[in-house]
Amino acid sequence: MDLVAQGARLAASGLSQGTSGNLSARCGDGFLITPSGTPYEDITPEGIVRVDRDGQWPAGQRPSSEWRFHRDIYLARPDAMAVVHVHPPYATALAMCRKDIPPAHYMIAVGGGDSIRCADYHTYGTQALSDAVLAALEGRLACLMANHGMISLGSTLAQAMWRAVEVENLARQYALALQLGTPVMLTDHEVADVLAKFANYGLMSSRS
Ligand code: 13P
Ligand code: ZN
Repeated sequence: MDLVAQGARLAASGLSQGTSGNLSARCGDGFLITPSGTPYEDITPEGIVRVDRDGQWPAGQRPSSEWRFHRDIYLARPDAMAVVHVHPPYATALAMCRKDIPPAHYMIAVGGGDSIRCADYHTYGTQALSDAVLAALEGRLACLMANHGMISLGSTLAQAMWRAVEVENLARQYALALQLGTPVMLTDHEVADVLAKFANYGLMSSRS
């Protein structure tokens, strides 16, 4: 199953370690999600949990503690077919400073707009965190989460994973640039140009 395979990739990629983060994919009117508190290398197809749109799942299973924001994203965002949540070092470091990622590199467009916002802090697994995440994702395909990590959406799980890697790379570049001086921001027009080109670029245009 894709969730098991991509989970194994995630552990190897350095985007998340141990049991941090979780993955899901839309499935009918619900979604499939990784189990809570399970190291990626130990996740089996049987451990994947199907959660329905009302937040119900089969007795005896234990979906990720973050099932609420996964569920709320699928309900609010018909464009999202997969959701990746991770705690990678640079995106999380910016989120610990509660900074948005501004348009200092043209790849900001991977987030679907001219910034990648940082959602307000709330305890993990809560409805309040889900509400904050939904607000930060308004018109966007990724967000940071204050004092926690990041989230990316995709039209496929592979696309959401690709986007997570690109957001972490952007965060790293921005953090390095901040150490050298004052990064120069792209104009609205320059960002709009890239957003238009991205509609036909690589995994950005992936629909399968
Ligand atoms: P789960 O193991 O419950 O998915 O939680 C990990 C996490 O990242 C919580 O935010
Ligand atoms: Zn988390």
